[in-house]
Amino acid sequence: MVKLTQQNEKMLYQCNECGFHYEDRAQAEKCEAWCKEHHSCNIEITASAIENLVKNRKSNL
Ligand SMILES: [Zn+2]
Repeated sequence: MVKLTQQNEKMLYQCNECGFHYEDRAQAEKCEAWCKEHHSCNIEITASAIENLVKNRKSNL
């Protein structure tokens, strides 16, 4: 089950398998379904995780 968490007054959905956070619930559910089935992350899905968005933003500066 995707977990709903609050971070900086923003509600985020967390994949219970890999722990990545998403602003979009559908994306978090997609991630969890993938993680459960493949026991690895799909970079196309995790690219939109908050953790990776922040990383990308920083490297663009
Ligand atoms: Zn995941």
